[in-house]
Amino acid sequence: MVYYQIQNSHERIPIGKLLCLARTYPKHAKEMHSELPKEPLVFLKPESAVIFNNDVIVLPKITQRVHHEVELGVVIGIDGKNISVDKALDYIYGYCVCLDITARDIQAVAKKNGWPWSIAKGFDTFAPISDVIEKKQVDDIHALSLQLQVNSLLRQQDDLSSMVFSVEEIIAHVSTLMTVKRGDLIMTGTPDGVAEIHHGDVLDASLGNICHLHVTVQQEQ
Ligand code: MG
Repeated sequence: MVYYQIQNSHERIPIGKLLCLARTYPKHAKEMHSELPKEPLVFLKPESAVIFNNDVIVLPKITQRVHHEVELGVVIGIDGKNISVDKALDYIYGYCVCLDITARDIQAVAKKNGWPWSIAKGFDTFAPISDVIEKKQVDDIHALSLQLQVNSLLRQQDDLSSMVFSVEEIIAHVSTLMTVKRGDLIMTGTPDGVAEIHHGDVLDASLGNICHLHVTVQQEQ
């Protein structure tokens, strides 16, 4: 089992399924030439893709175009099904900043053919996540912003208030589709500015000033 790294805590929470959303920021949907969905678009990433702060993203040989997507991660603290929007906050354990690393060339073929995105999104190391901060230490998650720098240059930045859906609405929606369990991670989608990463790049992501993630990139030998 793989466990979250939690700020100022030795609590052991195993990482469950990664529930990922797409097209949750209007400007990113536009840059991908995609329509904004009426309800969140959901896909899964395997837990085996997770890496942590100071780890290395490995670019597989079979892809030539890998993109970064910086996202808010929401860690579930209590099992739930059909959770209402007004109760959704109760089900959150905490938050992290994460990267939904994507083999964009493989995803493009999948989209064209109506195939799943699992391969494009699911390679080992394609889900870097920061340490988790407990919910009780965060006043208002929607008041924070996300940022990603690559080699110290700003690539992505937006306020969480730009999301089409609130965190509560996202939890309510995904819990109608499948049971959310303690340790599941919801990756809530990315703002605009997605771009390629290459061997030797250094990525620094942040959620406000409460979560930071530092990873580097290597080409598979
Ligand atoms: Mg994403």
